[in-house]
Amino acid sequence: MFSSGLMTVFLTLSFLVMGFVFGSFGNVLIMRMPCGRSLGGRSSCMSCGHVLRATDLVPVLSYLFLQGKCQYCKKHISVIYPTVEILSGLLFVFAWIHAETITSAIILSMALWSLLLIAAIDIRTQGIPDVLNATFIGTALLFMAERGVFDPWAFALGVGFFAGQWLVSKGRWIGSGDILLSIGISALLGTWELVTVMLFSSYIFGAAVAVLLLLTKRIQRNSSIAFGPFIALGAFVALWKGEEILSCVLRSVQECATLFFW
Ligand SMILES: [Zn+2]
Repeated sequence: MFSSGLMTVFLTLSFLVMGFVFGSFGNVLIMRMPCGRSLGGRSSCMSCGHVLRATDLVPVLSYLFLQGKCQYCKKHISVIYPTVEILSGLLFVFAWIHAETITSAIILSMALWSLLLIAAIDIRTQGIPDVLNATFIGTALLFMAERGVFDPWAFALGVGFFAGQWLVSKGRWIGSGDILLSIGISALLGTWELVTVMLFSSYIFGAAVAVLLLLTKRIQRNSSIAFGPFIALGAFVALWKGEEILSCVLRSVQECATLFFW
């Protein structure tokens, strides 16, 4: 029999590898879904179109081994691929550490994986495919049911906030996809307190990145940037550090200022 220490190492590695594999599949979805390409068919190099072999498609390792270049045409492979694979692996490990049961950890892994794809596709195309939002909402509701928590105020605040903005701006400030996204986020976080942390974090990250892009002249004053990734990032921060942030805010506002700068 495994000792409990060995078992923990084994399960952590299993979640990491599963995360890499799902991240690799996620890359296929990120590249093909927005342009409506079929998800079947062999993967090929985006530059030369050469069909890739199984050994070219090992998550993370192939990229490192090929030193980030296609072995057929020697063009650079986008760093997006290994980034998505690594983030996916880390999110799976996070889910395993964060959740209380293995079932819960598997459901949370799937929810965070779909959230990662939503953020990546929104950055690429400024839109979120409904089928991904549906996957995220479904897995987030399952995660909520598995934990046996239901707080109607989480939904009232999370969904109401984005639906309100959408109505007031007639869809100019945020997209309808962001409203669907907020249903899943509210279920994932489960309490109105954590939804509040998510809202504040999203806007802090959003404002910081917008200022950075303006200063470096990557965007104009009147450009729009996708907000989905910031909602996703804010939700992750709320899930990971939300309870600590809340107790910190309650203890003292001054102490909390340092949390946002680590
Ligand atoms: Zn190539």
